[in-house]
Amino acid sequence: MNNYKIYGNNSSKELITNMISKGREPHSLIIHGEKGLGKKKLASWVAAALLCEEGSGTPCGKCKSCRMIAEGAHPDVMSPKCGPKGNYMVDDIRPIVSDAVIAPTESRMKVYIIPDLDRSVVTSVQIQNILLKLIEEPPEHTAVILTASGRETFLPTILSRVISIGAVPVSDAESAEYLEVYENADPVSAADAVSAGRGNIGRCIEYLNGGLFKSGVKAARELARAAINKNEYQILLALEQTDSSRPLLRECLCLYSEIIRDSLRIRLEGENAVTVSCDEGAAKHLATAMTSERALALYDILCSYITGIDSNSNTSLTINSLCGMLVAT
Ligand SMILES: [Zn+2]
Repeated sequence: MNNYKIYGNNSSKELITNMISKGREPHSLIIHGEKGLGKKKLASWVAAALLCEEGSGTPCGKCKSCRMIAEGAHPDVMSPKCGPKGNYMVDDIRPIVSDAVIAPTESRMKVYIIPDLDRSVVTSVQIQNILLKLIEEPPEHTAVILTASGRETFLPTILSRVISIGAVPVSDAESAEYLEVYENADPVSAADAVSAGRGNIGRCIEYLNGGLFKSGVKAARELARAAINKNEYQILLALEQTDSSRPLLRECLCLYSEIIRDSLRIRLEGENAVTVSCDEGAAKHLATAMTSERALALYDILCSYITGIDSNSNTSLTINSLCGMLVAT
């Protein structure tokens, strides 16, 4: 099994490989993209590409460096410790800046990977200010890789000094191949998971494992069907199966909003539009059943309810109010 096989994201990999093979190693990168698109895997791939003993700009997967990085045991590849929610305190980051001046012990460079910076809602700006000097004037032997769900997490002063890589979804066929090769899924289960998670391999895996995402997909699909049938009772049933669980209701509404977004995309770009939501069939149906204005209004309503859930609104009241809004829109 190749630990460094990355599905899709070819242009980003080519960019990094070209830079390294021409001796222009990137010293600071950000990798952004939604959860499940493999940002951490891509960061590890970049670290291995930088430190691989073959020096071709692509991890060989066989040398000592590549093997140690794959095992999470390379002394020159480091990540700060984080809190239970994946957030960092400023004191977790300061040691990186002082450590960066010390030469690497095993390879030609040290790589600091700081994943999910967007989870550090309170400290993100301070952390970036602490890292700014390292990013502005990096020692020859260091590279810093930051990841977050979106570019908006980063300060303009950081964005202007880094290579920015957007992690993108892969094809459904690549997702299915990944599930069969790396997760030992049988073809039927893999196809089922791919119909929900689409080109987001992380989501496909979560679906296979039967977590929150799988329950959210079921509720969102039923909500979409109920909306197509304009059946108020079915809409209420679909929302009530979240059992007023805040995370599940949020997941359901986010996934339904993606179906609406896909329906808009299909209206604008036609049947061949690239879709990512968990119910392509419903998105196609809604694209013909709803005007763009109605879909946009519905999308805005869903976003405002998601914001309300994040602000601790009462979930039972939210379900009743949303049901009325969905019927009226
Ligand atoms: Zn190697």
